[in-house]
Amino acid sequence: MPYFVVLLMTGLAMGFSDPPYARVELPLAEANQLAMEYHFSGVGIDDDGALIVSGSTELLALFDDLNIPYTLMIDRYLADQEEAAFWKSVPSSYFNPTTLLSWLQSLVASHSSIAELVQIGTTDLARPIWAVKVTDNLMDEEFEPELRIIGNIHGDEKSSLMVCTDALEWILTQYGIHPDATKLVNETEMWFVPMVNPDGNFAHTRSNSNGVDLNRDFDGPAGPGTVFPAFSQKETQAIRDMTEVLGNRFMLGLTFHSGAACFNSVWNYTTTGPPDLANFFSSRTGGSPCSNPGGECAIPAMDGLAEAYGQGCTYPNFWQVVGADWYVTFGDTNDWAYDEWGTLDTTLECTVSKTPSESQIPIYTAQHRFGVINYLLKSRQGIEGVITDAVTGDPLDAQLTVTEFPQTVFTDPILGDYHRFAVPGTYEITASAQGYTPKTLTDITVTVDVMTLANFQLLPDSITFEYLVEIWHLQGPIDTNGNDYIDVIDLLSFL
Ligand SMILES: [Zn+2]
Repeated sequence: MPYFVVLLMTGLAMGFSDPPYARVELPLAEANQLAMEYHFSGVGIDDDGALIVSGSTELLALFDDLNIPYTLMIDRYLADQEEAAFWKSVPSSYFNPTTLLSWLQSLVASHSSIAELVQIGTTDLARPIWAVKVTDNLMDEEFEPELRIIGNIHGDEKSSLMVCTDALEWILTQYGIHPDATKLVNETEMWFVPMVNPDGNFAHTRSNSNGVDLNRDFDGPAGPGTVFPAFSQKETQAIRDMTEVLGNRFMLGLTFHSGAACFNSVWNYTTTGPPDLANFFSSRTGGSPCSNPGGECAIPAMDGLAEAYGQGCTYPNFWQVVGADWYVTFGDTNDWAYDEWGTLDTTLECTVSKTPSESQIPIYTAQHRFGVINYLLKSRQGIEGVITDAVTGDPLDAQLTVTEFPQTVFTDPILGDYHRFAVPGTYEITASAQGYTPKTLTDITVTVDVMTLANFQLLPDSITFEYLVEIWHLQGPIDTNGNDYIDVIDLLSFL
């Protein structure tokens, strides 16, 4: 029996279901190309810029078939096991599922007019998954963008949890004191999920209790990056259902990770695109200073999302890149949220070490705090409005597309409101809804840190223009509301 098989079995017997890592012995660009071609996901890259994959039996068999050279990272695997054992036996101030819940309960109790604890799911080991909803007027659905901030989807990446809880705590405690915190609470609806993977947090494993890498279990444009169908796990279902069941059409998202210190935008599954590239970067190469071990960094676009985070973040040697230019993955949170819902969701790698010593917690959380706040504040730059039925005035379950970056965003059907980020510029936007005639507005100007209002009233398909012309022909147009021109109000007065 080969050594790594014995090791894997030992690992499984100890409760570690992650297969050992394998290092692809090819230049990163070549490895990423193969990943896209044969649809396997990276889990990271090492300091020399080599792609690391989770070395499942199936994947290693594929590598053998294709003669792709690789090295099993036995030392790294042993180190992970050792670290996991350490974290199980040594108490620390990093949250575990139990201490996080009591901390959240007490925090929410002290700020109960603007924060609410919501259980969004339960894991296979019966641990609850908690979200904190933060906004003024908690009970009302308001004309506000919804924002999603999540951490610890990889259970061993504990700094991601602490950066997420730090931002939550800062916003709640600074409400009414700091203008940025006040603005975010009053003008947005934020959903924090600091610990997406409580079973992995408890066991200090990347994966959940079923050995599934949750950040490969979403349904990206090219499907998930696991051997299972997308959303096979309770944790990813919980994140999905914040949108699909709770009805939140998230405008922006931040997904915290650890193991590097960088900002990476969509796409993660392909090095082509994304449609929103201009909202993140002016160029995907040439950025500096650049600490990407795999090669290039991107140049943030002026007044864009990457610049906002970068200007607030003081973590040393922090860099920025399009996700797939770093390494290719399938089925991650960002690609699903962007592809399916138009959410500009970004992976934020918090610290080079996945779980730095506890003395570092106050330092790195402070280094990221205003990066997070700046990014969330960008939800107040772009275009927003309501899309309603021109006849009844009812809000519509509608779509909004900007011609210049055609990734569709969706209205919240309760109010019909949409919120679309854009860097400053002049845009053409189109609203559409099933059963309605689409409508386009041109020359919509966006300026820095301001939301431009653009409402739409859509005419039902069943009221054709020909029909209205026919009525006019019989009765003649009448300026019913006396504003000196014939508008939709006048047309509707004929019905
Ligand atoms: Zn991660």
